[in-house]
Amino acid sequence: MDDVQSLISISSQKPKDLGYPWETGQTGEYVKIDDGLEKPFYLPFDLCSTPKDFIGILTHKYKSKQLPGLPQVQRGHFGALNWSESTYITLDNWESMVREGGGVKIAFIMSTWHGFPLGKCMRCYKPRGKNTAGPRQTKCFSCGLEVRRVEPDAIPFEATDVSVGFGPDQYRKYQITSRKKTSPGTTPPATSAPETAKHNTFSDNPPIDFVCKRLIVKWEPIFNFVHRYLHCRCVIRLSTPSHIEKEQTLLTFAQCPRHNETGATHLDYGDLDYHSDKYFDRFGGYRSFQAMIYAFAPNIYEILGREKFLAGEQIDAAFDALNAFRRGDEMRLRKAFLEYVYEVNDELERNGFPLPESAVHGVKDERRRREEAHAVGNKELGFPEFSKDLRKEFQRDIREVPMMKEVDEILDGKWSGKPHWMIED
Ligand SMILES: [Zn+2]
Ligand SMILES: [Zn+2]
Repeated sequence: MDDVQSLISISSQKPKDLGYPWETGQTGEYVKIDDGLEKPFYLPFDLCSTPKDFIGILTHKYKSKQLPGLPQVQRGHFGALNWSESTYITLDNWESMVREGGGVKIAFIMSTWHGFPLGKCMRCYKPRGKNTAGPRQTKCFSCGLEVRRVEPDAIPFEATDVSVGFGPDQYRKYQITSRKKTSPGTTPPATSAPETAKHNTFSDNPPIDFVCKRLIVKWEPIFNFVHRYLHCRCVIRLSTPSHIEKEQTLLTFAQCPRHNETGATHLDYGDLDYHSDKYFDRFGGYRSFQAMIYAFAPNIYEILGREKFLAGEQIDAAFDALNAFRRGDEMRLRKAFLEYVYEVNDELERNGFPLPESAVHGVKDERRRREEAHAVGNKELGFPEFSKDLRKEFQRDIREVPMMKEVDEILDGKWSGKPHWMIED
C-alpha cells in the first residue's frame, strides 16, 4: 500500500518531479488520471491496470483527503472516459483502453427526478452558449461543469440524486459561503454563529455535484406510472424503462394493437416480453394470467382476438402455470381474479359501457365500500374530504399533464414511436 499512500501527495505534479521510486521512467509509462474533482495526476500503470485496483486507489485517495464524492467512488458510481472523452471505458474494454501513456477521466454518476433547466447549466443556471454541444452533452463555460445526459435505462442501479438543479440560489449560496470561509478577517458576529456553523459544515463537505467537473446524469421520474390496457394489461405507456421504483398502474379502456378483433394497429410502448413483466406476478405469471382469462373470462378472451391472446398450442402450458399457481394457494387465484373483474367492470361502468344489472350493482357496492374505507383512512390521517366538484376539477387538470397527453396521442395513433425519455443529439 506504500505506493497508494504516495498518491495523495502527487496530485498535481508531473512524474519527473515526484521523487518516488517509480520515477525512473518516461511519462509514457504512467497513466494520466483526472479524478473529476482535483488536478490531474499520474499513476503507475500497475495501479490502474484493472477496474478493481483503480477503484481501490481512488477510494483510498478520496477517503484520506476526505473529499466529497467518496460514496460515489466507493460504490463505483462513476463513469470512466478516455482522455479525449470520446469513449467510455468499461469492464469489457478496460484492458485495451487503459494503457501506459494514456489517460482516464472520471465523471460522477447521479440522477435527477425533476429534470434539467432548459438551455441553462443545471448547477449555476447560467445560460448555455450557442457553441456548446447538444442536450446530450453540455459544458458550462461559467462554472465548468460538464454534464452528460443518459436515458433512464442506461444505468441499472439507483444513483444518488443531484443536490443542485432546483434553482440558481443553491449554487450561489454555496459559492458565497465557501468564499467567505477562505477569505481572512471575516469572522462572523457571535449572534449568527449557529447558522454559520451549518453553512461551514456544508462548504467543508459539499455534495459532489457542487464541486465536481463532470457528471453523468440520468433523469428518473419519482413515480413509476404505467398505463395498461384494461383487458389484456399490455403496456400503453411507461414513465420510465427502469424498474427501480414500484409500478403504479393506471388502467385504460382502449384497444391493444396486439390483442383486438377490430384491426387496431397503433404504436405504443407495449412491445415487451410480458413473461418477464413483474406486473403479472399477482396472477402467477403471464402464462397463468392467459389461462385465467381463457378459462374464467371467455368473453374477454374473445375481445382479445382469441388466438392472438393465447394460441392453441400454448394452452396446455398456460394451464400448467395456472394450476401450479393455484396449487400453492387457491384463495390467491380467486382474489386475483375477483380484483381483475372489479377493475374491468369499474372502468367499463365509468365509461358508460352497458353492463348486466348485477355487474353494475356489484361494482357500485364495491366502489362505495372502497371509497368509504379510503375516506376513513384519510380522516385518520387528517386529510380533508374532497368534494365531487373538486374531484372533477382534478380529473380535468390531469388530462393536461404531458403524460396524459402522450397517452391520448398513442391511443389516437398519432404517436411517433419514440419513447419520451429518448435524448436527441
Ligand atoms: Zn454552470
Ligand atoms: Zn395486449
